[in-house]
Amino acid sequence: MSATLIRGTEIRDEILKEIKAEVDRIKEEHGVVPGLVTILVGEDPASVSYVTAKIRTAQGLGYKEVQDNRSEDIAEEELLSLIEKYNRDESIHGILVQLPLPKHVDEKRVLNAVDPDKDVDGFHPVNVGRLMIGGSEVKFPPCTPAGIQELIVRSGVETEGAEVVVVGRSNIVGKPIANMLLQKAPGANATVTVAHTRTRDLAYHCKRADILIVAAGVPGLVKPEWLKPGACVIDVGVNRVGEKISEKTGKKVAILKGDVDFDKAKEIAGYITPVPGGVGPMTITMLMRNTLNSLKFHLGIA
Ligand code: NAP
Repeated sequence: MSATLIRGTEIRDEILKEIKAEVDRIKEEHGVVPGLVTILVGEDPASVSYVTAKIRTAQGLGYKEVQDNRSEDIAEEELLSLIEKYNRDESIHGILVQLPLPKHVDEKRVLNAVDPDKDVDGFHPVNVGRLMIGGSEVKFPPCTPAGIQELIVRSGVETEGAEVVVVGRSNIVGKPIANMLLQKAPGANATVTVAHTRTRDLAYHCKRADILIVAAGVPGLVKPEWLKPGACVIDVGVNRVGEKISEKTGKKVAILKGDVDFDKAKEIAGYITPVPGGVGPMTITMLMRNTLNSLKFHLGIA
C-alpha cells in the first residue's frame, strides 16, 4: 500500500487564495486591509530569511506590511516602547516579534508586552488560555498547530473519536496541537495522548495512533514498524542532516529529513506529510489567516 501524500504546498495555495478573496472583499466593503508589522532585531540569517518569507506572503495578499528592523544593541525599554507604539496603531492588526532576541533582552517580557488582540503568533499567555478554553474564546491559534489541523481536516481524515498520539510537548507545537484536537469541536473531538522523552514505551503508543503527529526534532525517531496500517502521519520534524548542491541554483542547500522514515512509512500509512513540503508551508499561511481574523475582530465581522 502507498499512502496518500498530504501536500502542504497545494493546501497552502488553496488557503492563500481564500484569504486573498476575503481581503479583496473587505477592502471593497470597509476600505481597510490587514496590517502586519514584523520586528526584527539584529541580522541572524535564519531570522532574516523567515521574516522575508512572511513579508513576501503578506505583500502578495495585499496587506499593509511594515518592516521594523532594529540593531542588535537595541535597549529592552526601547523595544518595549516600539511594541507599545504598534499596540496603539489602529492600522496594525498583527505584531510579530521575530525570535530569537539578543541575550540582553528579556524575551518573555517583550512577548508579553504585545497586545493579546494583536498577538497573531498566539504565544501570549492570554491566547494560550483562550486556546485551552476553546470554542468562541479562541482568537489566534498558534500557527504551526493550526496548519497541522488544516492539513488533517482538508485531507478528509476523520478526527472525531480518533486515537491521536502527539510525540513532543513543546509550547509551540506538541501542547497546543494536543489541546486543539481534544476540543469539543468539528475537526477535533479526538482522544489524545502526548508522548515525550519520559514516555515508557513510545512504540506502543505510536502503534495505537489513527493520527500520529511527530514533533520531536529527532531524525528517523519513529520507525515504520511502529505505524498502524492506514494511519495518518503528520511529520513536523525538520532536521538538517547534511548539505547538497541544488540542481536549480548550483548553491549549497541543507538536506532536510523529518522525524519519520518517510520512504518506508509511506508503504504502511494511509496519509503522510513529506519533509519538506508538508507542515512547513502551512505556518506562514496560518499567520496570514490570524492577521486577517484580527482585522475581522476589529471590524466586528468575525
Ligand atoms: P522542542 O521544543 O525541542 O521539543 C521537542 C519535544 O520532543 C520535547 O517535548 C521532547 O520531550 C520530545 N522528544 C525529543 N526527543 C524525543 C524522544 N526520543 N522520544 C520522545 N520524545 C522526544 O521542539 P519543537 O520546537 O516542538 O520542534 C519539534 C520539531 O518540529 C523540530 O524538528 C522543529 O524544527 C520542527 N518544527 C517545524 C515547524 C514547521 O515546519 N513549521 C514549526 C515548529 C517546529 P521532552 O519534553 O521530554 O524533552
